[in-house]
Amino acid sequence: MTYNITLIPGDGIGPEVSDAARRCVDATGVKINWEIAEAGADIIAKYGTPLPDSTLASIRKNKVALKGPLTTPIGTGFRSVNVAIRKELDLYACLRPTRSYKGVRSRYKDIDLVIVRENTEDLYAGIEFEEGKLETNQLIKEIEKLSKKNIRPDSGISIKPISISGTKRIVKFGFEYAVKHNRKKVTAISKANIMKFTDGLFFAVAREVAKEYEGKIEYEERLIDNMCMQLVQKPELYDVMVLPNLYGDILSDLCAGLIGGLGIAPGANLGNDIAVFEAIHGSAPKYAGKNVVNPTAMILSAVLMLEYIGEKDAAKRLDKAVAKVIAAGKDVTYDLKPERTDPTAVSTSKMADAIIGEL
Ligand code: NAD
Repeated sequence: MTYNITLIPGDGIGPEVSDAARRCVDATGVKINWEIAEAGADIIAKYGTPLPDSTLASIRKNKVALKGPLTTPIGTGFRSVNVAIRKELDLYACLRPTRSYKGVRSRYKDIDLVIVRENTEDLYAGIEFEEGKLETNQLIKEIEKLSKKNIRPDSGISIKPISISGTKRIVKFGFEYAVKHNRKKVTAISKANIMKFTDGLFFAVAREVAKEYEGKIEYEERLIDNMCMQLVQKPELYDVMVLPNLYGDILSDLCAGLIGGLGIAPGANLGNDIAVFEAIHGSAPKYAGKNVVNPTAMILSAVLMLEYIGEKDAAKRLDKAVAKVIAAGKDVTYDLKPERTDPTAVSTSKMADAIIGEL
């Protein structure tokens, strides 16, 4: 069987790590017809947009995509293409498993945590009002009238919507993942003591969903600030964690730190029938084109992709090959060496070659 899969190489270090992942997947023997699709700042002049319809159409048609990181200008310019893809395709679940690999230098051993992050709501919904604009002033007046609270007139406003339906499906996703992957516990995380009508709602809905899994999967709640400390002090107490968008984004970087950095942390964005696989890390512009960064996060995202399409054996073999190369510590990129300046560090493509050699 040949699978049609969309490949978005991305920008910055994207093309290098995407190429490494694609070669590793091809080397497993799984037959894939890669449909290359473009996105990002570099193509605005050509298409008038960083996210052309043809790219979305390709993902909609193939249902599965592997995507390299894309740069988002900070503060000004276009909105995040990464966020737009997730919203356009309703990829409501962001799955980020973080597992320790032997040979990666980290303060922690045996980390095995799974972050399930809501992907479409919260402060990332993109509903923002710029300081000084007419509509912002109108909104401020309206909110003051309704809430009887003052907002400084020189404020910018970002809206945080969290819905019952959005929360229900993400928490259900977390529990279903736990059941399918033999996990024991789901922890819901928010800041319900302060934001009662959004984060409070998140907990209330999560509690209801948890009842359906009583006796099968344990359920608990934590506040996000406390959770940051807990994960640093005793990560072994946690298993699957379900969070609203912003907290999920922050906590997944924290978890990537627990296992030794962004270079080895994979991810997936999943909807009801479409899935886009991508590393947690961004486009690391300062390393772009240098062929030096770690391809592991992207390759492990491809492992998640192989599992998703049902190629479990290939997924297992690729994961083992990655683990073997990292454990040997020889053909690895600079970030996996004891010193970042280690002259024996190999390039992105050489590390991919070594992984392919272990398949
Ligand atoms: P980043 O992840 O790109 O880089 C931060 C640092 O992490 C790098 O300087 C590097 O030291 C390290 N790093 C990242 N990936 C690595 C790898 N594969 N191997 C070794 N080291 C690695 O984060 P940033 O600098 O905050 O963001 C840069 C751009 O990427 C921004 O425009 C941001 O919006 C975008 N971004 C995109 C995505 C995505 O496409 N999903 C995700 C996060 C950030």
